[in-house]
Parts: sequence; C-alpha cells; structure tokens
Amino acid sequence: MKIIVSDIPEEGLQQDVDLKVSIDNSEPAEDVHVSVRVNRYGERVMLDGSAGMSVSLVCSRCLKRFRYPISVEFHEEYVPRPDAVDEEHELTDEELALNYYINDMINLDEFIREQVIVSIPIKPLCKANCMGICPMCGKDLNEGSCDCKKEDIDPRLSALKRMLSERRRDG
Ligand SMILES: [Zn+2]
Ligand SMILES: [Zn+2]
Repeated sequence: MKIIVSDIPEEGLQQDVDLKVSIDNSEPAEDVHVSVRVNRYGERVMLDGSAGMSVSLVCSRCLKRFRYPISVEFHEEYVPRPDAVDEEHELTDEELALNYYINDMINLDEFIREQVIVSIPIKPLCKANCMGICPMCGKDLNEGSCDCKKEDIDPRLSALKRMLSERRRDG
C-alpha cells in the first residue's frame, strides 16, 4: 500500500488495513494487521500506529517451525529525500533517525516490513525451555530422551547450562 503525501488531508488519515508482508523470500507473505494514523505538517509526515501479525520461524534449538506473535508500535517521521545525495557526506545522527520518501510517496508495506523484521528475535525459541535435538541421533528431546550413550554430561543438564549461559549473555 502506498501513501501519496500530497493527498493526505489537513486533518490527517486513519488507515486500518491488512497487508501482505514477505519477511523471508523463501516463505509465503504473512498477513499483517496495521492501524496507522498519518499526519502531514508541510513536507513532514508522521506515522503513528501499530502492527500485529504472527510469523513462521524456525526454532534455533530444535529446528521446528513455530508461529511467533509480533506486535509493534511505531512513531516515525518521514521527510522528502534531498535531491542531491552527496556520497561523501557523513550522515548526522539526526539525519539517520529520519526516514525519507521519494516522488511524493511512502511505501507502507516496506515500512511495516522493516518494523516487523527488527522485532524478530535473532535466536528464536519455540518455547523458553526447548530441549533442542540430540547432537548424536537428532531426536527431538522435547519428545523424550534418546538412547545415545551420554559420555560426559546429561543432555538435560547441557540444555540447562546452555540456557543459563544464553540468559547471561542476553543480560
Ligand atoms: Zn524448539
Ligand atoms: Zn540421541
């Protein structure tokens, strides 16, 4: 969905739409429900709203697909992109915080896609205490333990250790 900046009325726009957003090119697009308030102040455009969806992710421990619910809130400002972009020019923090639109148009799908992507965990887990798979036989340890010879450490202990060290790393 595209927002034509010059068509935004003085009193603003309220959009409640379902968009199809493709998170990962190998997966079908997902439905995202978006509720957004669009206000224009001269050339500046503010987008305030929220987006909700569930995405299909692969668990980083047991490698199973699962649905992960995402809801994001956003408050973003758009300004027209300057005509001449000097490659040598280093962007200031203020400039980096801005979003640019070109040709009087904001691509809402692309904007929402970016918002959703930053809320996807780097190491998704199907559940907080996922046991993962046995490194020897590949059995899903959430379904019970396997008969592999445990040489050094019980897999439940190693999963616990891993969980604790991950928790420490995540702060
Ligand atoms: Zn899992
Ligand atoms: Zn095993």
